Amino acid sequence: MNIFSSKFGKIFIVLNILKRGKEMKNIVIIGGGASGLVAAIFAAKSGKKVCIIEKNNVCGKKILATGNGRCNYWNEEQSILHYRSNNIDLVKEVLSNKNKEMILEFFEEIGILPKIKNGYYYPFSNQAITMQKALVLEAEKLNIDIKTNMIIKDIKNIGDKFIILTEDGANMEADRIILATGSKAAPKTGSDGIGYKISKNFNHSIINPLPALVQLKAKESFLKQWEGVRADVAITLIENNKKLAEEKGEIQLTNYGVSGICIFNLSGRVARGLADGKKEKIKINFLDGLDIKSEAEFVRWFTLRNQNIKNRTIGELLEGVLNYKLVNVLLKRAKLNDKDKWNEIDEKSKIKLAKNVIKFDLDIIGTNSFDKAQVCSGGIPLNEIDIKTMESKKQKGLYIVGELLDVDGDCGGYNLEWAWITGMIAGINVE
Ligand SMILES: Cc1cc2nc3c(=O)[nH]c(=O)nc-3n(C[C@H](O)[C@H](O)[C@H](O)COP(=O)(O)OP(=O)(O)OC[C@H]3O[C@@H](n4cnc5c(N)ncnc54)[C@H](O)[C@@H]3O)c2cc1C
Repeated sequence: MNIFSSKFGKIFIVLNILKRGKEMKNIVIIGGGASGLVAAIFAAKSGKKVCIIEKNNVCGKKILATGNGRCNYWNEEQSILHYRSNNIDLVKEVLSNKNKEMILEFFEEIGILPKIKNGYYYPFSNQAITMQKALVLEAEKLNIDIKTNMIIKDIKNIGDKFIILTEDGANMEADRIILATGSKAAPKTGSDGIGYKISKNFNHSIINPLPALVQLKAKESFLKQWEGVRADVAITLIENNKKLAEEKGEIQLTNYGVSGICIFNLSGRVARGLADGKKEKIKINFLDGLDIKSEAEFVRWFTLRNQNIKNRTIGELLEGVLNYKLVNVLLKRAKLNDKDKWNEIDEKSKIKLAKNVIKFDLDIIGTNSFDKAQVCSGGIPLNEIDIKTMESKKQKGLYIVGELLDVDGDCGGYNLEWAWITGMIAGINVE
């Protein structure tokens, strides 16, 4: 008996047609960055018809710039404290152990061998291009239709379809959209914030995107004098006279203010505070490396040092442990002369100097712009997204991933981790 004439055979055919119908859904991913590429690959792996639309002439241009060209794509240290969001519990759910394992397995599968330095993951080649090429190759292998040099202007929803409007007028149709256009940070790499506008048209609210992982600006006459100095410091962020956060690491002193990873990690909160009209300042301990934390400890340590190396000037004492440019600034602030002998200055002056060296107050007046920022704080609130699938709760068939969402992480691989995992969830679940 012919299988197709049987009852079982008919059911089989109908199921197959239904399955094929499902498989043939036309999924368009807007943005071929970190999250878009991963979303596309996972969608294609589960048999879906996938197209990526990318504005640049190649996908993953921002990936090439990450980690100073080395792509710090993950971190061994996985505390949720490395992330900020208005819905941090949802961030935790997205970054579940299962999802982390799946994405790390995926990197292995596409040939990314990690080089781990102090917990920071890089491709073994130490080159970001290894990651970008591996993703693009995998996408090509899966026959994903990659349309580069195509800029999306807007997306409209008509019935159960989407119409994608492009800048050159070649409009396209899609059954499902994965929006992966990134934030407003580093627009030179392609992300100019259009995803916010598109999401807004689908009734999403947007938490004001602000530059994050960016330098901080101050307005002080001495900035030119300390330009170029690097120091290992501890920093306390003070908002409206309340301690908000602490960071340790290398600071770079510049002619506009301060930079360095420890500053970047505080910058999102500073930007948000300033935008809310709060007063932001940092306190710097320039002698954290010597574990000097109080004025009394400072005086004790330098008195002993002065005895040991025989009655020096304060300039000489400080220059032994700090950059000379910085010493000039610190002495001026403490209203002391570098030729003054440690033994000859009074206790009050020593305390004043101590305050300047270990509790150096710097009022912050702003951050550098989106051009210089690595990521954005703010974006589309996570409670407007079904985080099990990354589908919008406002528009069926629209999925939103990556940095467009209201999540930003510290330096160290956390932002890419967010992009990879949200892309993977959308890719698996889009249907
Ligand atoms: C200099 C720099 C260094 C960084 N280093 C690190 C690091 O070492 N580790 C880490 O974890 N994170 C790092 N980041 C952050 C990380 O790169 C981002 O968080 C991540 O790339 C975000 O991924 P995404 O897919 O959401 O967005 P993106 O990677 O920005 O991708 C968005 C894509 O959408 C495309 N697009 C935008 N608009 C349109 C449009 N209208 N039409 C078509 N396509 C469009 C863009 O061209 C782009 O390719 C760094 C960022 C920068 C700028």
